[in-house]
Amino acid sequence: MTRSENMARVKGKDTKPELYVRKLLRSAGYGYRIHCDWLPGKPDIYLPKYKTAIFVHGCFWHAHENCRMFRLPQSNTKYWIEKLKKNTERDAKNRTELLKLGIKTIIIWGCTVKDMMKHDLKQIIEMETISEILEQVEEPPDVYEL
Ligand SMILES: [Zn+2]
Repeated sequence: MTRSENMARVKGKDTKPELYVRKLLRSAGYGYRIHCDWLPGKPDIYLPKYKTAIFVHGCFWHAHENCRMFRLPQSNTKYWIEKLKKNTERDAKNRTELLKLGIKTIIIWGCTVKDMMKHDLKQIIEMETISEILEQVEEPPDVYEL
């Protein structure tokens, strides 16, 4: 993948993993909004009833730690370290802002979505986890990663 293809992918909305997660939520009967630019970090998905934001994070762009799908590029390494550091710092700031608004955050990593697409059992398990997180009424709200 070239850098410009990568850029298109990160800026792009309605990525394949996003569409997949939305489809699952829809079939489970959850109501949601998408491309929520009125909320910090513009969550990919927002469930108003549950005050929960869902981010479907690409493992590269959001620098998923200890992930098989994340590898630092061999060229321009310094540039990428800085760039990805900025991304993760921005992500953390957005999560904090959401928590201040009483909104919990669920991050679904690209590698998790990939596994869910491949394995039915994984899909069932992760969807159960999402339901549990949504139904959980807690004080204060928290951040979850799948
Ligand atoms: Zn990952």
